[in-house]
Amino acid sequence: MPIKKVSFEETLGRHILPSKCVGCATCVIVCPFGCLEYADGRPRLVGECKACGVCAQVCPRYSFSMEALEKLTFGRERNPDEEFGIYRRLIAAQTTDVEIGRVCQDGGVVTTLLKYALESGLIDGAALSGISEDEPLKPKPKLALTVGDIISCAGTRYSYSPNMLAFKEGVKMGKKHLALVGTPCQIHAARMIQHSPLKRYANALKLTIGLFCTESFDYKGLVNGLLRGEMGINPEDVEGMNIKGDLMVRLKDGGVRRIPLEKAKKYAWNCSLCGDFSAELADISVGGLGLNGWSLTVVRTEKGEELFDGAVAEGLLRVRAINEDELPYKLLIRLSRLKRRRLANPE
Ligand SMILES: Cc1cc2nc3c(=O)[nH]c(=O)nc-3n(C[C@H](O)[C@H](O)[C@H](O)COP(=O)(O)OP(=O)(O)OC[C@H]3O[C@@H](n4cnc5c(N)ncnc54)[C@H](O)[C@@H]3O)c2cc1C
Repeated sequence: MPIKKVSFEETLGRHILPSKCVGCATCVIVCPFGCLEYADGRPRLVGECKACGVCAQVCPRYSFSMEALEKLTFGRERNPDEEFGIYRRLIAAQTTDVEIGRVCQDGGVVTTLLKYALESGLIDGAALSGISEDEPLKPKPKLALTVGDIISCAGTRYSYSPNMLAFKEGVKMGKKHLALVGTPCQIHAARMIQHSPLKRYANALKLTIGLFCTESFDYKGLVNGLLRGEMGINPEDVEGMNIKGDLMVRLKDGGVRRIPLEKAKKYAWNCSLCGDFSAELADISVGGLGLNGWSLTVVRTEKGEELFDGAVAEGLLRVRAINEDELPYKLLIRLSRLKRRRLANPE
């Protein structure tokens, strides 16, 4: 698709920044003139815009077309009955790696697949979400170059992590086989890059692993408003969080506290404009839906299937079938419909 020459102000500045920007940072990383920086979860114009139009071309909120990106990714658009997107296989999977099992969020599928991909030379780095040194609930984009790096990023931080910034770092280092892990909006942005003429970035992106996502949260809202304010929890006492119907907070003393997801909604990130629950454009999508210690895994592309089968063949993952009458399948359908409906009828 040729790039239309328009300025940041005319496109993203006017139409996206005021209320639609999700803060994925894709516009920031691709600006060829370094005119944009990422600050407070949003792009900011810091140089004279040359109106090259590249930023608008990759923004998942500006000219996003699921149909066009499905054709790019799968060679076709979905059929109406493909409610959670095009896929090859739906299974539950769990890591066999004891170390990963100790630190992962659900079944450790994401970390295990990345470890396998790095060790077998399929990737030379991965753009992930790491943890801030002084604030363990705060995500921080991280370019993982070793298995140790990958394992250190396991687990979910529920506030927004612009992993694209780590992807850019990898491209700048000359990495040619990068993986990107991200929420559905970040996978949309990754496909927007591949749909654009930005070959330097498109060619370096070899694998996308998407995370199921109802919504992400604003970090300050999550920590100060929800944890401290509504739940009376000191964030330093938190071992981890998960979404299982409710938002669950695991404490370091072994206790578990729950709050209905509805009550957490006022701290949500700018997610109401996303109709994709299960990262429908990823090579592989993973979530914890209705499963305990296992990941519901949607293998979508041929590339994703080769990776997944390779990890299973090496004994790195154990798998079990998921049938259409089981809860995880029903939840996947229900939450996919809910999120699409929310997009069609924003609050
Ligand atoms: C904001 C958010 C909301 C989610 N909501 C749901 C939900 O409603 N239902 C559901 O079933 N699953 C949800 N998930 C996915 C779920 O929490 C797990 O990430 C998924 O099940 C994979 O588990 P795992 O054990 O295979 O991953 P792990 O092996 O533990 O690996 C997790 C990977 O996630 C990456 N990561 C962590 N935090 C972030 C972040 N904030 N942004 C981007 N990447 C990150 C890390 O880099 C790591 O590579 C959500 C994830 C996020 C980030």
